[in-house]
Amino acid sequence: MEESKYLVLVQYVINQTYSKWIKTKEEQSRWKTKVSKFVIEEGLLKHKKKKVDCTLVIQKHQVQAIMYMIHDHPLGAYRGVGIIVQKIRERYYWETVYQDCKEHVKTCREC
Ligand SMILES: [Zn+2]
Repeated sequence: MEESKYLVLVQYVINQTYSKWIKTKEEQSRWKTKVSKFVIEEGLLKHKKKKVDCTLVIQKHQVQAIMYMIHDHPLGAYRGVGIIVQKIRERYYWETVYQDCKEHVKTCREC
């Protein structure tokens, strides 16, 4: 997730203040629906998967580290895009998981 978007989300979840580009009632309600899926837990932004389950929201600069743990590192070492996506979604959230996994596997020098 882009850092700017991450910060706007955190700001809203904490303060319920709209960012300046949300002006109309319609934009407000669309935004509310979207952010209702996010919560702050232990100081971290999380995405509600089901009613109880939350997954940690990942910022853009953290994606490589996650890929490393799940795919490159021997303890992870999941090879197929499908299983990598599944493993990531069990614990983490960002919008482009599938595309990023596909790209990572395609460009991986190890396999
Ligand atoms: Zn690889």
